[in-house]
Amino acid sequence: MNTNNPNVQPIYILPENTNRETGRNAQKNNILAAKLVGETIRTTLGPKGMDKMLVDTLGDVIVTNDGVTILKEMQIEHPAAKMLVEVAKTQEEEVGDGTTTAVVLAGELLKKAEDLLENNIHPTVIVKGYRLAAKKAVEFLESSSKKIDVSDKELLFKVANTAMTGKGAETSKEKLSNIVIKAVLDVVVKEENGGVSIDLSDVKIEKRTGKSVDDTELIEGIVLDKERVHPEMPKKVRNPKILLLDTPLEIRDTETDAKININDPARLQEFLDMEENMIRKIVDKVVSSGANTVFCQKGIDDLAQYLLAKNGVLAVRRISKTDLEKISKATGAKILTSIDDAESSILGSSGLVAEERVGDENMIFIRECKNAKSVTILVRGSTEHVIDEVKRALEDAVGVVSATISDGRVVAGAAASEIGLSLQLAEYANTLSGREQLAVNAFSESLEIIPKTLAENAGLDQINVLAELVASHKNNKPNSGVDVFSGKIINAYDKGIIEPLKNKTQAISSAAEVAVMILRIDDVIASGPEMPPPQGMPNEMGM
Ligand code: ADP
Ligand code: MG
Repeated sequence: MNTNNPNVQPIYILPENTNRETGRNAQKNNILAAKLVGETIRTTLGPKGMDKMLVDTLGDVIVTNDGVTILKEMQIEHPAAKMLVEVAKTQEEEVGDGTTTAVVLAGELLKKAEDLLENNIHPTVIVKGYRLAAKKAVEFLESSSKKIDVSDKELLFKVANTAMTGKGAETSKEKLSNIVIKAVLDVVVKEENGGVSIDLSDVKIEKRTGKSVDDTELIEGIVLDKERVHPEMPKKVRNPKILLLDTPLEIRDTETDAKININDPARLQEFLDMEENMIRKIVDKVVSSGANTVFCQKGIDDLAQYLLAKNGVLAVRRISKTDLEKISKATGAKILTSIDDAESSILGSSGLVAEERVGDENMIFIRECKNAKSVTILVRGSTEHVIDEVKRALEDAVGVVSATISDGRVVAGAAASEIGLSLQLAEYANTLSGREQLAVNAFSESLEIIPKTLAENAGLDQINVLAELVASHKNNKPNSGVDVFSGKIINAYDKGIIEPLKNKTQAISSAAEVAVMILRIDDVIASGPEMPPPQGMPNEMGM
């Protein structure tokens, strides 16, 4: 086509304000953005990693060491960089820990890929090599992992401790590790096929400022940010009989407007009497079921509150559906949609329901549930920032303990598994011919970023640490890792630095996946900002 020919009109297939980048340029920019994300959170990796302070537009501050939290709060705009944030989120959802590792690794994979691109290795070759390497990596990790006895609390303790080392929870991490193990073991469900399943939402983490982190407590039951509805109600009920209602304890449905016209004062009294009678009947029904504690998802009428109080019943209203379901799981009570079904067989039980003062507010505690399948960790600490970071550390620990119990396999931490894997992949690369070998080698080298970063963040010499680690592994010590506190090469298992297998397999496969995805892009077509509506035309909002 000759564009100089005045008779040939240029054709546009995209809107005028579209931004477009193609070929190497597109690749370069995407890699750069993704690498930047990796570099940004690198400094937080490991027990000696630093924290980041994030300030949002309203001036709210978060201080954290948690990879996924940093990335979520950074409000990243670049599309390729956003893909790395997704990796962190997936890791968080699947395992709960290892988010920084996954993103740092993805960044490094792309950095190494860039070197290959510079040497004119085609992206599809790199993609093929990375895919091969990732698949092999998972196999290698699985075969070098250790099967454990999932009832071994000492081991679970080490796993929880490893996840919490270096986080805001540091000073109380032993106590917190024990709380986490107890909480997770409480909610484990044994399946018929012999396996186990754990629903992480059954471990609720509540927080309240005040006291210190060491006062964090496990409640084998539920904590509600609520108060009893009437001051005359008992504050404490021992061995309560618990009734759960998904129906209001009132006549008038406050959510709809109804209008009744009454002309005669006598009729008004009649009407009020009738209403009172109905409330009395409802309360009678509650009391005669044997219930002395009521949790209601909807409202409770003033008269009902008074009558319940007179009967010594503790009642709480406007409880969320999810909380009501949790109470049901913890106490065994059935949730009723009609008060007519109230009878003793559907009531739940626990050791104690009590309203307690926590900080400057009251909370309702449902404690000592036998066989509680839903539990609560109440995090305490001096300031909002402290408890938020402790909560995140606890979530990581709950994640790794669950992953360990449900999978039953662990690997050595402190970069031992990454170095082992890197060496195995290098050996595997030698068995390949052709250019994929280069990509597998690049993958193998990328894994070195983990020990390097752990060392760097601890102020150790990266190169020395790496050399010593490699030497130790080649010396038939496959569990050698770097202890960032002493700077020495140690046996990670003996030192109790242990992580669930899933932590590593997930991090490596998602890092590889996102690297591959970014490498395969050679064209970025971005729509420009929306054009303003033409003059005189109302826009969609009709404004
Ligand atoms: P992530 O978000 O990836 O979990 P962390 O900041 O929690 O990042 O760091 C996890 C890394 O720190 C893992 O590789 C783990 O093995 C390592 N680690 C934990 N404890 C130690 C220790 N005492 N010495 C060296 N490395 C450790
Ligand atoms: Mg971690």
